Amino acid sequence: MSDPAELLETLSSSAQARGCRIKRYGEIDGYPLLAFQRYDEPEAPHLYLSAGIHGDEPAGPSALVPLLESPEILQGLNLTICPILNPTGLAAGSRENANGVDLNREFRNPKAAEIKALAAFIQDLPSIDFSIALHEDWEAKGFYLYYLNEEADYPIARRIIEKVGQIGPIETATIIDEREAQGGIIKPPQPFKPEEREQWPEAFFLYSQNKHDHLTLETPSSLKLEERVPLLVAAVSEAVLCIRDPAAKRKDRQP
Ligand SMILES: [Zn+2]
Repeated sequence: MSDPAELLETLSSSAQARGCRIKRYGEIDGYPLLAFQRYDEPEAPHLYLSAGIHGDEPAGPSALVPLLESPEILQGLNLTICPILNPTGLAAGSRENANGVDLNREFRNPKAAEIKALAAFIQDLPSIDFSIALHEDWEAKGFYLYYLNEEADYPIARRIIEKVGQIGPIETATIIDEREAQGGIIKPPQPFKPEEREQWPEAFFLYSQNKHDHLTLETPSSLKLEERVPLLVAAVSEAVLCIRDPAAKRKDRQP
């Protein structure tokens, strides 16, 4: 269990040091729902980064501490960071919010206050170029990711797996959450038809706003917190290098 209020305070002061404004887009049970925003580079891509939608996955919000403390990692981007999407779940150490709702199944027709507020907030954002959601998996033995984009190839995902694999285990299962996986990468079947799914995760909602590359990063809960946080930090750092480099998407397609 983590104290959301204390963590938000730490994260907010680091975010301000990185030039972000603190936006309060809602409130739940006395906890503010906060976003950190920085839009000061008109030519730079806009990254949306979120964490903490599942309260029993503290590695996501915890990974934002070193990411925001670093003056370099998140430079050269316009940013929207939603650090703790489910504060009541984080306080209780439960996947669901205090009302027992899995917030990551709420995005098609949001009823939970947290997701209603978040959806309205996201709809008013400048166009998103890349989005990342930080998660943990209690069943996984290694790190893996879920990659959503329009293309059949996914060099960015492979670059991230290669980088994370240098410091930690990569999931080897070929079926993860009933989906086919290879080398730690889950790719939705093409063509991707979110309208056929009843319950939308955050990823589908973000993607439905405007089609962009989305990564859901999953670090294994079987590792200690201080071991699984660096895997998320390495993954986001590598993703950001790719986002800032428009050639990254094509790089390993060349002969
Ligand atoms: Zn999760």
